[in-house]
Amino acid sequence: MAQFNSRSGSESPFGAANGGQSIQRSKSRNGSTKRSREGESDPAGPNGTHAIGERRSSVSKPARDFRDEPPKKKKRKKVRDVAPVEEAGESSTRSPSPVIDFDGLSRPSVGTRERLEESDEQSKNRLERMKGAVRTLLECVGEDADREGLLATPERYAKALLTFTRGYQENVRDIVNGAIFQEGHNEMVIVKDIEIFSMCEHHLVPFTGKMHIGYIPANAVIGISKLPRIAEMFARRLQIQERLTKEVANAIMDVLKPQGVAVVMESSHLCMVMRGVEKTTTSTITSCVLGCFERKEKTRNEFLSLIGVNRR
Ligand SMILES: [Zn+2]
Repeated sequence: MAQFNSRSGSESPFGAANGGQSIQRSKSRNGSTKRSREGESDPAGPNGTHAIGERRSSVSKPARDFRDEPPKKKKRKKVRDVAPVEEAGESSTRSPSPVIDFDGLSRPSVGTRERLEESDEQSKNRLERMKGAVRTLLECVGEDADREGLLATPERYAKALLTFTRGYQENVRDIVNGAIFQEGHNEMVIVKDIEIFSMCEHHLVPFTGKMHIGYIPANAVIGISKLPRIAEMFARRLQIQERLTKEVANAIMDVLKPQGVAVVMESSHLCMVMRGVEKTTTSTITSCVLGCFERKEKTRNEFLSLIGVNRR
């Protein structure tokens, strides 16, 4: 290996840049003569070695068959059409300071408003649709949806899912309910180890962990039980941990107008633990610091050491 490396390095200027490739080639062909031939034949055409020659020509030539071209262009156009929309959607939910909509549902969509304002009949209809969908899922995983143990599962799961996502029917204003008090207090307030159960929006499986919330009042303090409830409201939606952390921080910033807010969350994602990398001890830590926590390193460090993140 070392030999080949040094050879290719001395032979051609591409040796250094294509280090990995030249090693593979020399491994398979065992000779420097063929390698140099390859270099000559590549620009000319697919004469030298098949795999590499074909690959390169498909990149350099527009298309082998003109019929291939329109679909390719269409695909590209589709991607272009979709991409900006996605980006816009993401940036609107992940902007540094999203406005908390107090008349609505703090990140409302058509669906959330429908859910909040639905009649009893619409609610029943929603449950029926969900039951049908769960039954389909059961069938698709290879189960007999009519066997005794599963008979009531569609309804149970539909109701459970509505509970897991009940945050869509809550809003910050109702939760705070005027519990803001002018105390003239200006020292750091921390509520730590708030248990969080949320749902990963990418896999629809839970992620669970603990959230730590700190703020420095500008005279006004918020009822201390409100902080876990605000966290709960955002957790009981389809989430990603990064956005959940940010939404909680921004909501407190908006409703209380303190000198600063810091939110740290550490959690374990079942989509990571049960599938994919399957690392059961992995935890993901996210943080969002606003106001004086963002400006002053000393304040931020004080918060981090008080919640115990620095110690690990
Ligand atoms: Zn996931």
